[in-house]
Amino acid sequence: MRFDNSPFLVIWETTQACDLACRHCRACAIPRRDPAELGPQEGLDLLDQIRALGDPLMIFTGGDPLKRPDIFELLAHSVELGLRTTITPSATPLLTEWAVRRMASVGVARMAISLDSSSADEHDRFRGVQGSFDRSLASLRWALKAGLETQINTTVTVHNLHDLDQIAALVAESEAKLWSVFFLVATGRASHKDDLTAEEYEQVFGYLYELSKAARFDIKTTEAQHYRRFVAQRRKFDGSGGTRPGIDLIARHGGINDGKGLVFISHTGEIFPSGFLPLSAGNVRRDLLAEVYQKHPLFLGLRRPEEFSGKCGVCEYRNICGGSRARAYAVGGDCFRSDPRCSYQPPAYTVPIITPKEVSA
Ligand code: SF4
Ligand code: SF4
Repeated sequence: MRFDNSPFLVIWETTQACDLACRHCRACAIPRRDPAELGPQEGLDLLDQIRALGDPLMIFTGGDPLKRPDIFELLAHSVELGLRTTITPSATPLLTEWAVRRMASVGVARMAISLDSSSADEHDRFRGVQGSFDRSLASLRWALKAGLETQINTTVTVHNLHDLDQIAALVAESEAKLWSVFFLVATGRASHKDDLTAEEYEQVFGYLYELSKAARFDIKTTEAQHYRRFVAQRRKFDGSGGTRPGIDLIARHGGINDGKGLVFISHTGEIFPSGFLPLSAGNVRRDLLAEVYQKHPLFLGLRRPEEFSGKCGVCEYRNICGGSRARAYAVGGDCFRSDPRCSYQPPAYTVPIITPKEVSA
C-alpha cells in the first residue's frame, strides 16, 4: 500500500506536559504546559482537517493528554467526526477511575497504557515516579469495568529484555486487545546505549512471532518495521498462512512507515513524519495538513523506498518494511539511509568496495 492521499494513522501530541519523568521520553516532557501549544479552537480545527484527509485512526498522545483541561471536548469532537479515537494517558494521579469512565462515555475506542517491567520497582524507576506501575494496572481494571478497550505499550531496551515473558503475562491478565512493542529510537531523552543490537532485535522478533501464534491479544511493533520482514520469512519457512490475529495485523499494517500512512502533529502544530522523526515539513498554523502530507518532498521521499540508499533501497521487503526511517536519522543523521538495527542482507545488495585510495583520501 502506498498511502499517497491519506494516512492510516494520525498522532497528535496534544501537549508536551507530563508529570512522569521517563528515562527514554521522546518528548523530553516536563510537568509545565508550553504556552505555545495549540489552543482549544486550533485543536478542534486540526481535527476537522484530519477528518477531511480521510478516515484515519486518531491517536491523542502527549506528554500526557490529561494535562489539557479541554481534552474531553477534543476527544468528543473527534468521535463526533467519526474518527476511531484512541488515547495514551500517563499513569499519574490525573488518571482516575472517573477519567477512564469519561473516556468511555465520550466514545473513545481504546486507551493505551505503558508497562515497561513486570516489577513495580523497575517500572517506577524507568518512569521516574513511584506508584506509576500500580496506577497503570488499576487504570486497566477501570477500563475493563467501563467497557473501554485497552492496549499495552512496552518499550524494549537492554533493561527489560529478560522480562518480556512476564510483561506478556500481564498483558494477557489485563485482557488488553493489543501489545504494542516499541523499539528504541535515540531521540529526546532516549540513549543509544539502551538499545538492543540487531541480533537481539531478531531474538525478540522470534519471541513475538511464536507468542503471536497462541496469544489472546494482537501484537504489533513500533519502529521495528523489519518485524514484517521477519514474519514474512517465517511464514514462508513454516508454510503458514498466518491465521492468528497477531499475524493478520502484520498484513493490515504492511507498508506503514514514518510519513507513509503515518503523520504526527506536534504540540505546537509542526507536521512530522512520526514522533520519532522530528523533521518538520510544515505547521498546521499556516499550512494545510493535506497539502503537506500529500505533496511535501520529505513525505514523498519517505513513500519511495526504492530510492532509499544502502540495503533498504534494494531489499525485496522494502515495500512491506522499509526500515525505521526515524532510527536511520537518529543514528546516521539521514532518514533515507538503511535501518542500522536490521541484520538482514538482501541478495540484491552488494557492499560497496572501498579501494585503498578512497580510504586514504
Ligand atoms: S509518560 Fe510519556 S510523555 Fe510522560 S515522561 Fe513518560 S514517555 Fe514522556
Ligand atoms: S534491509 Fe531494510 S527494508 Fe530490508 S528488511 Fe532490513 S530494514 Fe527492512
